[in-house]
Amino acid sequence: MKYDYDLIAIGAGSGGLSVVERAAEYGKKCAVVEARKIGGTCVNIGCVPKKVMWFGAHIAEALRDAPDFGFHVEQKGFDWKTLVEKREQYISNINTWYGGYMADKGVDVLQGWGSFVDEHTVEVDGKHYTAETIVIAPGGTPLIPQETENANLGISSDGFFELTEQPKKVAVIGSGYIAVELAGVFQALGTDTTLVSRKDLVLRGFDDLIRETLTDAMLESGCKKEYHFAVKKLEREADGTLTVYSTDGQVISGFDQVVWAVGRQTLVEPLKLENVGLKTNGYGFIEVDDEHRTAVDNVFAIGDVTGQPQLTPVAIRAGRYLAERLYNNKPNLKLDLSSVPTVIFSHPPVGTVGLAEHDARSQYGHDNVKVYTSEFTPMRYAFTQHQIKTALKLVVVGEEEKVVGIHIIGDGADEMLQGFAVAVQMGATKADLDATIAIHPSSSEELVTMR
Ligand SMILES: Cc1cc2nc3c(=O)[nH]c(=O)nc-3n(C[C@H](O)[C@H](O)[C@H](O)COP(=O)(O)OP(=O)(O)OC[C@H]3O[C@@H](n4cnc5c(N)ncnc54)[C@H](O)[C@@H]3O)c2cc1C
Repeated sequence: MKYDYDLIAIGAGSGGLSVVERAAEYGKKCAVVEARKIGGTCVNIGCVPKKVMWFGAHIAEALRDAPDFGFHVEQKGFDWKTLVEKREQYISNINTWYGGYMADKGVDVLQGWGSFVDEHTVEVDGKHYTAETIVIAPGGTPLIPQETENANLGISSDGFFELTEQPKKVAVIGSGYIAVELAGVFQALGTDTTLVSRKDLVLRGFDDLIRETLTDAMLESGCKKEYHFAVKKLEREADGTLTVYSTDGQVISGFDQVVWAVGRQTLVEPLKLENVGLKTNGYGFIEVDDEHRTAVDNVFAIGDVTGQPQLTPVAIRAGRYLAERLYNNKPNLKLDLSSVPTVIFSHPPVGTVGLAEHDARSQYGHDNVKVYTSEFTPMRYAFTQHQIKTALKLVVVGEEEKVVGIHIIGDGADEMLQGFAVAVQMGATKADLDATIAIHPSSSEELVTMR
């Protein structure tokens, strides 16, 4: 072979692991370069630890409601450290499993930062490795806005997963999905939580029904809000607590942690893209065509670095399809991003697929779009002191009422959505949903009985 490898992927996260796994199945000699832990963001500092914390928060909520169902429970407290230790052990087992899995597939894991020497050569830890094809899958890192004075007194989502002690009082800055997820976990587990945001509704870009319902639910859960609050600086007080100042003179104080959740940036610096003449666009993404090819013919990019929906299943699908196109004679297998389902593990969770009402109206014309909505208190909360609403919206288009968006907030939304996403992907109409017999008693039955 002319090169050391058929394919080298830089980054052993969701995308990089998927492409080498599939390529190796087709007999290709592959290596994956990883500077930190195998598994990438999702496994180590993203989806997996986040969901463990979400489960913990759910147990807390169940305990809160238990007396309403007749249980005499005496809560003796919650030990954050125990949950974190168990979580990290679970993740460490996944890391170990991945290492073994890669070895079984014959994939070399090259530990260290990978950078381009030329379009067929990658340097890792001072050594050069060549490959016919190179796939960039470096993901991203959380953004800490350095223009804010003393911004580094706050931590990011990465720092959240390093907390071995539960903060008593925390400010989460941001209003996107990571902000609401982390704030929800803190609040449910008993931390005095304040969500700090420039906006008055969370989850910009999502359907208004979701935004309004979640914003209300967070407040009802006890999470405090500081909206219309643009952070100017952080300051550490003599007692060790943190104070947050806004640009217009508002001050909030007494936090033992401040968590930034204001976005992510791609991790491209270490790649030395200049050595192959590659550049990022104005948003920091590496642009690719519909085959995930970059401006350099044998260099591909997948996952968060491309600016496509920053979700693990999108990165995985991109990696697998790339290997199918390259090595299994399926040149037309392209990623279809027209209806990507996504779940936000908030309290309650959100599940959404397709277009928000406002997007559908601007895409199809205001009068061509119709919506069906339903809001109710699910049976789970029929007689509990704490009541958590469920809200659903179907967005349909045209005479045939094709379903172009489904938006769910409420208990079970996270598991409810996947099946409905299949229906949307298949082009279901409202009549198809109506023709489906309901499951009773459930919240999801509302989606097939809307009028
Ligand atoms: C807090 C949080 C929660 C999330 N929750 C969800 C969720 O619930 N569901 C979901 O679908 N998605 C979730 N995501 C997003 C998901 O984690 C990402 O979309 C996904 O991991 C992207 O995969 P990737 O392969 O592009 O990059 P990553 O998984 O980030 O992997 C990139 C890897 O490359 C390594 N690397 C980078 N540069 C180099 C280099 N030069 N040399 C060597 N190694 C390098 C990094 O160390 C990293 O391990 C979450 C993300 C965060 C931060």
